[in-house]
Amino acid sequence: MLNTIKIMYHQGKQYIPDLRKAAVPGIFRGRPEITLESVDKKALADICPTGAIISDPLCIDLGKCTFCGECSRAFPQKIQFTKDFKLSTNSRERLVIHEGVTDPVVSDPDRIRKEIRKLFRGSLKLRQVSAAGDNSCELELNACGNVNFDMGRYGIEFVASPRHADGVVITGPISKNMAEPLQITYDAIPSPKIIILAGTDAISGGIFEGSPALDRKFIDEHHIDLYVPGNPVHPLTFINGVMDLLGIR
Ligand code: SF4
Repeated sequence: MLNTIKIMYHQGKQYIPDLRKAAVPGIFRGRPEITLESVDKKALADICPTGAIISDPLCIDLGKCTFCGECSRAFPQKIQFTKDFKLSTNSRERLVIHEGVTDPVVSDPDRIRKEIRKLFRGSLKLRQVSAAGDNSCELELNACGNVNFDMGRYGIEFVASPRHADGVVITGPISKNMAEPLQITYDAIPSPKIIILAGTDAISGGIFEGSPALDRKFIDEHHIDLYVPGNPVHPLTFINGVMDLLGIR
């Protein structure tokens, strides 16, 4: 008994009390900011391995960014990555960060379907499909339910069967081999259902964009309810994005 109390004392609190205000330690790269400093914009865009930087007008597309940090290392006065992990939004356009803009990334309230908040605010069960993912986003999504992040406290959980789910969370760039299983999974979820794209690969194809090995028709043919950038996504980015979608404060 005494030993148990001793262990509990030394471990302290395991869970993060306020997921909205948590601070991310270490080298985490969150929302980038592009200053108004004058630089060779083409040279800056050419650095990016995924084409996430567009030179005219200068901006960074978080849906393509792998957060490798190359641009910031080469042009530290021009691009800085903040620790702001709130990157999720329901609007593809809002993933694009423009020069001189330091506003946070937020969802567009007009694009949130009414039934989502009405039906899923108290309980949201999600089926995860790794559509040619590399296990990085999948690991981080798994961490969302651990004792630290504990997203289950809001009724948000992953389930084993699409029949028990209210929506699908897609990771990976969606290879041809995974296009049909993804569609079958989605079809098995009862309506109304939501779609969340987690990670750069799922949002744009990432470094595989344009590969003939991909089949991304599913993305083009369905309404996407939430984009969660990251490579991989951070649990706080995912949980805060879903909480915003559901209207949880
Ligand atoms: S951090 Fe993003 S925008 Fe910058 S070079 Fe890497 S992928 Fe491109």
